[in-house]
Amino acid sequence: PIMYGCDNFCTYCIVPYVRGRERSREPAAILAEFKQLVAQGYKEITLLGQNVNSYGKGLENPIDFADLLNLLCEVPGDYQIRFMTSHPKDASRKLIDTIAAQEHLCKHIHLPVQSGSDRLLKEMNRHYNVAQYMDLINYAKEKVPGVTFSSDIIVGFPGETEEDFAATLDLIRKVGYMQLFTFIYSKRTGTKAADMPDPTPRKEKTDRMTRLLKLQDEIAMALVKAQVGQTVKVLVEGFGRNEGTLSGRLDNNLTVEFTADASLMGSYANVHLTGARATVLLGELA
Ligand code: SF4
Repeated sequence: PIMYGCDNFCTYCIVPYVRGRERSREPAAILAEFKQLVAQGYKEITLLGQNVNSYGKGLENPIDFADLLNLLCEVPGDYQIRFMTSHPKDASRKLIDTIAAQEHLCKHIHLPVQSGSDRLLKEMNRHYNVAQYMDLINYAKEKVPGVTFSSDIIVGFPGETEEDFAATLDLIRKVGYMQLFTFIYSKRTGTKAADMPDPTPRKEKTDRMTRLLKLQDEIAMALVKAQVGQTVKVLVEGFGRNEGTLSGRLDNNLTVEFTADASLMGSYANVHLTGARATVLLGELA
């Protein structure tokens, strides 16, 4: 964790009420812990916060998230950094430039959009609109070759119409997410959204979810197939589905399975991507 709490009060979310206001850890403390992890041989370190993009506000010597990343990337060693969660209203072009420039940073951005409808984004109190979100996505596509995206989506937020939902599907097509974490809206007592009229029947919401997942599957499979033929660096994390295979993750967060000895577990391997099984890549040691 690099920070705790949240100041945002999205209308569906209970986090600010239960975890309190945003507090950032001192960069020196994060750096010291980070150096220790690298020295112990950790190969992947994930920086956590409810909204890492607003890291640093309120510190005695304020520092932004991109500069924290730059500071950590100066630590010598063989490791990669991931972070979550980003809030689109605070994610900056400077952050994208940093991802493009720093080799230790994975070329994958989790940028939760929640909805593709400007009307609902307002109701959710998200403080960005679809055009601003797409501007950031397009900037990242331009500056970070091979970048992939994932996101969180809420289906059936109170008052979501078929038109709002169609706008979400449209956004999903435009971005081309590698992965989506999808949720049917569920009421959290004490939040503003809990008191909003919610006339859409549950069956309609599940139907929307099914349509969304079908679209996402098609998009993800096409993106996965497009990776075949490349040789990539993989962090080996576990056993694959078939005997004698290992499973690892690419920098862009895709999973690959390949035949190799278990001694590679926990280290990096170069893998040639030869095919795909649904959204899992298949490969062989290069
Ligand atoms: Fe904060 Fe995220 Fe909850 Fe919004 S959804 S209030 S940003 S924790």
